[in-house]
Amino acid sequence: MRRRYAKTVHPRGLLRSLLDWARGRDQRLLRGGPGQPLLLMSYPSGQEDVARELEAAYLHTLPGLLDGIAAPYRPMLAALPPLVVVLLRPSNVCGCLGHHHLAGLESGLARRLAADLGEAVGEIDLAYENIRRWQPQPISSLAAAGAGDSLPRLHFHAALLTVLLHELEHLAFADHPERQVRRASDSFYAALMRELLRSERGIAYGMEDC
Ligand SMILES: [Zn+2]
Ligand SMILES: [Zn+2]
Repeated sequence: MRRRYAKTVHPRGLLRSLLDWARGRDQRLLRGGPGQPLLLMSYPSGQEDVARELEAAYLHTLPGLLDGIAAPYRPMLAALPPLVVVLLRPSNVCGCLGHHHLAGLESGLARRLAADLGEAVGEIDLAYENIRRWQPQPISSLAAAGAGDSLPRLHFHAALLTVLLHELEHLAFADHPERQVRRASDSFYAALMRELLRSERGIAYGMEDC
């Protein structure tokens, strides 16, 4: 029996997911400092650059900020399960920058780990190409201030860490309303960009008014 397909439909999201699947995925374990849960990143093979960026943000940038601009996130980090799976994808069909996964709706990877380890395992996903294109408020003022060539790189670094912490907060405190979580991450992003620009170029751009 022959089947005829009058029309082949390739929803973009599905096609991209299938291509990711075909390419396979790699995992990397991030062991942060005291007070930081273990993160198990799962990312499409070949996306080492993205994995390295998140690794640097979590292992190098964040610890240096926990006594400063990231101090408000300390209680949240302490409230997380000891291991959180971070699924990195280029994009989400819904267009979101990331999600936290509700208990019971985690991927097979997180569920297997929880069963094998006998520990609670949390899970979030991050859509790194959406995060790269994300345009939070202060970025236009930075561009206008002539932050120049380094802006896209610094933005990606800051935005990855910001969205990571945003989704981790949802995971840690399910009762925090979106408005509150968003307000915290907006001010964290702005403060982090100031820090990164200051340390990279020794220049403060006077974003305090933004
Ligand atoms: Zn979504
Ligand atoms: Zn949110």
